[in-house]
Amino acid sequence: MNEKVIEIRGLVKNYELKKRKIEVLKGIDIDFEKGKFYAIRGHSGSGKSTFITIIGLLETITSGVCKINGRDIKELNDKELSDIRRSNIGFIFQDFYLDDHLRAIENVMMPMYINNDIKKEDRSRKALELLKSVGLEDRVNHFPKELSGGEKQRVAIARALANDPEIIIADEPTGNLDEESEKKIFAILKSLSERGKCIVVVSHSEEVKEYADVVYKLKDGLLHKEEI
Ligand code: ADP
Ligand code: MG
Repeated sequence: MNEKVIEIRGLVKNYELKKRKIEVLKGIDIDFEKGKFYAIRGHSGSGKSTFITIIGLLETITSGVCKINGRDIKELNDKELSDIRRSNIGFIFQDFYLDDHLRAIENVMMPMYINNDIKKEDRSRKALELLKSVGLEDRVNHFPKELSGGEKQRVAIARALANDPEIIIADEPTGNLDEESEKKIFAILKSLSERGKCIVVVSHSEEVKEYADVVYKLKDGLLHKEEI
């Protein structure tokens, strides 16, 4: 397996404020392949979130090329972008962003309603399978407030997998978790990469090096490969 899913060349991102320009990304070249776990580290403010929100198609670029599955994102209209976002990309956040009013299983089913690829009668079965795959078969009907941080993040992972995307992007997914939960989350992400997903994780944690295939450090607007 050696399939490029994301191809980035000369990626520049500036934020233009009223009085000044913030140059965050200064010409990044990188490919992301299926079946690999990539970790991105770097100091606070170095542009990690900016970078992964770009590959998550949630932020525009200033110049350069970003291709997802061979398609240049600059050439896609809003509908095409949101279709790719829904079908090909799963996003996981530090703060989980679960819907507090929905049970675990209902949270996992949410993206299925939006996408409509999965038949109605199959949704709860699929959600159940996903919760099982992250070890939460005993928490299916719990509300978020009845779950630990680690369990909430596992629900969020199951939800990110709802539409079976090939790319999973996570922004400091273990930032609010204890060590034990952190290991579980990284192990799940690792096993997803072994099953062919492309995993891109921003993390401050040293621990992520134990799981990632490739580790980059974002510094001065560029990505530098770290030895692991
Ligand atoms: P990290 O995730 O590595 O902490 P960010 O990508 O959040 O870094 O931020 C990188 C830099 O870009 C910071 O200096 C931040 O203040 C700035 N920045 C981030 N988002 C915006 C925005 N929407 N508008 C203006 N500046 C921003
Ligand atoms: Mg950040």
